[in-house]
Amino acid sequence: MTKYKLEYLWLDGYTPVPNLRGKTQIKEFDTYPALDELPMWGFDGSSTKQAEGRSSDCVLKPVSMFPDSTRKNGVLVMCEVMMPDGETPHPSNGRATILDDPGAWFGFEQEYFFYKDGRPIGFPDRGFPAPQGPYYTGVGYSNVGNIARQIVEEHLDLCLDAGINHEGINAEVAKGQWEFQIFGKGSKKAADEMWVARYLLQRLTEKYGIDIEYHCKPLGDTDWNGSGMHANFSTTYLREVGGKAYFEQLMTAFEDAREDHIAVYGPDNHLRLTGLHETQSIHSFSYGVADRGASIRVPHSFVKNDYRGYLEDRRPNSQGDPYQIASRILKTVASVPTS
Ligand code: ADP
Ligand code: MN
Ligand code: MN
Ligand code: MN
Repeated sequence: MTKYKLEYLWLDGYTPVPNLRGKTQIKEFDTYPALDELPMWGFDGSSTKQAEGRSSDCVLKPVSMFPDSTRKNGVLVMCEVMMPDGETPHPSNGRATILDDPGAWFGFEQEYFFYKDGRPIGFPDRGFPAPQGPYYTGVGYSNVGNIARQIVEEHLDLCLDAGINHEGINAEVAKGQWEFQIFGKGSKKAADEMWVARYLLQRLTEKYGIDIEYHCKPLGDTDWNGSGMHANFSTTYLREVGGKAYFEQLMTAFEDAREDHIAVYGPDNHLRLTGLHETQSIHSFSYGVADRGASIRVPHSFVKNDYRGYLEDRRPNSQGDPYQIASRILKTVASVPTS
């Protein structure tokens, strides 16, 4: 028998953005356990804004698991929060009821800032560094500093060790801002991996005394970019059948559902979706080929391939909940008839 360190992770009841929480339990198994061998567990909901009335017990139901290479025999266990009966999803459990489809593929581009002492790393104590320009995909100490690359490389390895479909990294437009991409087939799979990748990044940076700032416009109304989480998506029908007529109907459906999408695309998005800094205004909807100022960017390859492939919804922001973003996209897609 081997003693495994099971780190149960869940999303708490804070709004508008839940926090990741985690605690460890040790369990013995003959070999690396399967998901259905992991027991339900509990926690005190009164400390996480998840207590219901007088009873503060909440139940953790394991829903996906990832090897944790930072610990000997470590496993990260993503959980849904359930009511004490173990069967009813807790009101804060946004995952239980989302639309899912293994044919729906999602590629999330998570942008974020590294923060120390209330400022992006690399910012001087007062004022601002040289304006944006050389930082995006930049190299060299004056562009990316001396610690960020070490962190993003370590994070990449942690994700790959965990079996997360991490697809790439780039330094972003603002100083101290970076991006990583996660791709997954199915809403729950892609979104679980994004939440665990966020967890790994936050846990990793503890030892550096650095925080991850996920707010979509941490530097406010300045000439510094905000952070998005572009959601690239495709369905089996979009990849295999598609066509111009279907695409145009789909865009009409997205336009009609604009407000419903914005509602789950992350808080404070009006600060970011201004029409500047490669965004479309939060009050408008547009799509365009290779257009980074559009709400939805249509890749060249999509048009060339007779309107088949994937589309990029550029509106979700860096604090958005990937469960809700993916589900909302699937809801709008499902409203358009396929022939
Ligand atoms: P950019 O920065 O130019 O917008 P990225 O390379 O950062 O593009 O991100 C593109 C994303 O598109 C990746 O996360 C990738 O996984 C995703 N993607 C590629 N093909 C598909 C597809 N068929 N369905 C869904 N997502 C896709
Ligand atoms: Mn990108
Ligand atoms: Mn980006
Ligand atoms: Mn993008």
